[in-house]
Amino acid sequence: MKEPISIKPHHFVDIITALGGGQRVFEPHPYGHAVHVVAAGILEHPEATLRMALGADDICGPCSHNVDGVCDDTIDTSFRPAAPESKREYNLLIDRRWCERLGLEQGETLTARDLCRRIRDRAGDIADIYRENPVERSAERSVKLEKGLSMFLGE
Ligand code: SF4
Repeated sequence: MKEPISIKPHHFVDIITALGGGQRVFEPHPYGHAVHVVAAGILEHPEATLRMALGADDICGPCSHNVDGVCDDTIDTSFRPAAPESKREYNLLIDRRWCERLGLEQGETLTARDLCRRIRDRAGDIADIYRENPVERSAERSVKLEKGLSMFLGE
């Protein structure tokens, strides 16, 4: 796929977390977004160049919820009542926290491998990044993320 791959930090984290959770193949999603294409591109090419995005990225591109570059979807707030209902607002919140934690700027380019190394070295306790979520979910996410990072980095 074309590079650099435009990707939101949390979308990248989700792909590596899914890898750690045992997912090897990403199927097309009913929304029509491109997670299966982007995930395959990243997992097959650890040296692929990524460009950090806070708005719509290459996964959002063909999504039915991407309306002129703005996500019109909502999130399930039943288990995280403090989170905003708008997926766009919630994603922005999470992505800004990831950027701050990892020292990333919007538009910055780096390889998938380097982003994994940065997450491994700087992520720390991610419960704070996902602070609207129950701690058990973040703990589970953290275990899978750590495993996914090791797998991706071949460590
Ligand atoms: S963030 Fe919104 S527009 Fe992007 S893939 Fe998800 S639902 Fe679609």
